[in-house]
Amino acid sequence: MWLPFTQMSDYEKDPLIIASGEGVTVTDIHGKTYLDGYSSLWLNVHGHRKKELDEAIQTQLQSIAHSTLLGAANIPSILLAEKLVKLVPERLTRVFYSDSGATSVEIAVKMAYQYWQNKGLEKKTRFVTVSNGYHGDTVGTMSVGSIELYHKVYTSLLFDALVIPFPSVYRHPSGDENIVRDESLQELRLLFEERHEEIAGMVLEPMIQGAGGMNTMPAGYLKGVEKLCNEFNVLLIVDEVATGFGRTGKMFAVEHEGIQPDLMTVAKGLTGGYLPVAATFATEEIYDAFYGEYEEMKTFFHGHSYTGNQLGCAVALANLEIFEKEQLVKQSEEKSTFLKELLVNVKQLPHVGDVRQCGLMCGIEIVKDKHTKESFPLESRVAYRATLEMRKLGLLTRPLGDVIVLMPPLATSNEQLAEMVALMVEGIKAVTEESVAMDSIQQ
Ligand SMILES: *Cc1c(COP(=O)(O)O)cnc(C)c1O
Repeated sequence: MWLPFTQMSDYEKDPLIIASGEGVTVTDIHGKTYLDGYSSLWLNVHGHRKKELDEAIQTQLQSIAHSTLLGAANIPSILLAEKLVKLVPERLTRVFYSDSGATSVEIAVKMAYQYWQNKGLEKKTRFVTVSNGYHGDTVGTMSVGSIELYHKVYTSLLFDALVIPFPSVYRHPSGDENIVRDESLQELRLLFEERHEEIAGMVLEPMIQGAGGMNTMPAGYLKGVEKLCNEFNVLLIVDEVATGFGRTGKMFAVEHEGIQPDLMTVAKGLTGGYLPVAATFATEEIYDAFYGEYEEMKTFFHGHSYTGNQLGCAVALANLEIFEKEQLVKQSEEKSTFLKELLVNVKQLPHVGDVRQCGLMCGIEIVKDKHTKESFPLESRVAYRATLEMRKLGLLTRPLGDVIVLMPPLATSNEQLAEMVALMVEGIKAVTEESVAMDSIQQ
């Protein structure tokens, strides 16, 4: 095998192979059990082997596993669409399925582009994105993404998006939320004033950027972006792939600021982490721009073989039922508050520069010097080594550069949250103390 986002020479040194899972733990082939501190890469919601989800798949199997959605519909996909439309912001009335976060964003981008073509505003072809944004690894989603480490090598392959800087409070000299927000919005306004006639849409992750380093937005920023998009006739595309389904303490992160996007994408948590199903939501206005006689050539010519897969939609439906039954969003909000208290101790560690959190999505940024915010040298891979240490201690997670991610399943108990944080602290301490010791030997 060739593993995703993995340097295989690293992996070979100590390969991890998972054999089973139960609740918020997974077990490897040697019988060692780990807490799933990254929700199996931000997917898992209710823990592994959730009875209702297992049963939903078994029940659906008695009817059919898959039939195509091209020119045909099926029962679970209809029921799921009906349920989803009731949950998302009210302007979003149409559901277009696919099978991963990347495809859901790729679809939103193509829809936004063709929307303006169909409306006869042919100059509106460009996209605005925020630095460090991440929307998937296909060529289209990399184009609207902006993470130098992942995207640089492909630069000449990508279409050229307009990038505005992320409003990072930690890295801003003022350290003041309001100043950072207002400056960033002013910059966006200037860009729109100058170029709105050529801009089709703006793409961003709401409230917190995931893969870009768990970067939280100043309060009011997202609302400000929405206002500017409305003012300048730019479609607002919100990527809820990571933040959706309770992860930030709301069903969707847009609810924190009452945002009504034109297009919105979901994937990861949609099936509770069981099967690959994604969705792109559109307003009725966008849907209408594609509606007409075939000869008008307004059709959205896009689809994937497994779009609307019945097993996937059935398990997604069961997932949403558990959200209702267990009042999971409320639980997530309460657990976030508990987690926030736990993280206060982490912030005290000598090499933790910043702790960022939005609900149950957290990033812990490791720095060499807390006062200057200077990083450890790239080759020391401190955050990566800290996660290896955590793995030894029985906690799975993955770093993003210098940032250690904690993103537990929503079903994690308070005791388990405390255990996860304690193991993180132990892992961080072991590696940062060692790095500092090595530094002073070299000096
Ligand atoms: C993970 C992620 C994606 C890509 O999803 P895949 O299912 O891995 O293709 C897109 N956007 C955001 C915000 C993500 O976190």
